Amino acid sequence: MVVICVKPLYIGLVNFLVESTQLIDLNYRGRFALSPTGPLHFGSLVAAVGSYLDAKYHHGKWLVRIEDVDSQREVPGAASGILYMLERLGMEWDEEVVYQSQRSEAYFEALNILCKQGLIYPCTCSRKEISDSSIMGLNGRIYPGTCLKNPASVKKIHALRIQTNNDLIQFKDILNGTFSQRLKTDVGDFVLRRADGIYAYQLAVVVDDAAQHITHVVRGADLLESTPRQIFLQRLLDYPIPQYLHLPVVMDAKGEKLSKQTNAMPVNSLDTLTQLVDALHFLGQKPPVEILEGDVVSFWQWAQQNWRVNLIAH
Ligand code: GLU
Ligand code: ZN
Repeated sequence: MVVICVKPLYIGLVNFLVESTQLIDLNYRGRFALSPTGPLHFGSLVAAVGSYLDAKYHHGKWLVRIEDVDSQREVPGAASGILYMLERLGMEWDEEVVYQSQRSEAYFEALNILCKQGLIYPCTCSRKEISDSSIMGLNGRIYPGTCLKNPASVKKIHALRIQTNNDLIQFKDILNGTFSQRLKTDVGDFVLRRADGIYAYQLAVVVDDAAQHITHVVRGADLLESTPRQIFLQRLLDYPIPQYLHLPVVMDAKGEKLSKQTNAMPVNSLDTLTQLVDALHFLGQKPPVEILEGDVVSFWQWAQQNWRVNLIAH
């Protein structure tokens, strides 16, 4: 192990090596962005643990955001239940929790900036019209651009879409390597505000990651294919582009992503340590068996010091 001596000259720098494997990055700001559609389950626990450990390993900050833009999908009490569970699990967030339901003004402003760039257009197509006239893309149907070719009346209830292009959008995921997409052909023009006035996840997440100065996004790999859309928006809005680390997704016995929709078992508040250890194993980490003899505090001590991204399966 090479120990690099930190000379006073370097103390003002934010990044410095304490040992060969650990990079301290005091600027690191990570987050766990949860949808309050039900209780915390093992899949979301893995995302919480992964984002928390990566932030704490770097001596950075870990923030929590409640992604409750879509009030129809929200389950009353789910947000506070998840926050309570995170506390029980010994995961402390560093700044006040941000609720997307209170951030509409910020989303409106961002939409306005994109509008001034001439990239937003109204769309009055129904789901049926789109499914009859489009092909499947990487992430749902590729909107065929009907309302771009024949502008829709804004007097009718309409969604707002952004015009995409075929530039190659490429980024290097910390775990999965280079990932690229051409939005127009792979995804199509996507919705930023739905016809019911609800802002789309793709816009809200980008605005909030920028507002919270997030430098590292650690989340499930089901969102890998959303990342080029987010980078596209970040570039247009002149936001910094965070680093991305997409964790493997937890599947159930049927091979489906564990989610509240598939009735995944909630994390049990009576046996937090075992579930934390299970999450750590899922993330490829190799805690000693004695970790189960300790408590949540000793768990986090070991996990933070020994976090190794290169052990995660990908
Ligand atoms: N709220 C999203 C979810 O629960 C996560 C979004 C993100 O991490 O960017 O799937
Ligand atoms: Zn349309």
